[in-house]
Amino acid sequence: MCYQLVERYSVCGCLYFQHAIDPCTAYGQRGHQVQEKTVLVGYACPRHSARRGSGSSYSSGR
Ligand SMILES: [Zn+2]
Ligand SMILES: [Zn+2]
Repeated sequence: MCYQLVERYSVCGCLYFQHAIDPCTAYGQRGHQVQEKTVLVGYACPRHSARRGSGSSYSSGR
């Protein structure tokens, strides 16, 4: 069974890093599937780790 390591943010679940497939001897055969191994990293991605409310740069003036 081939394995592919996929790292995801544990907080939001976004993709952090997708490693290359680690092929086994049966790699490339018909019906052969790649087992995905998910590894969680202990934080959120930059998009979801940005806190709301701290937007002091948001100017409401015209
Ligand atoms: Zn395999
Ligand atoms: Zn995210």
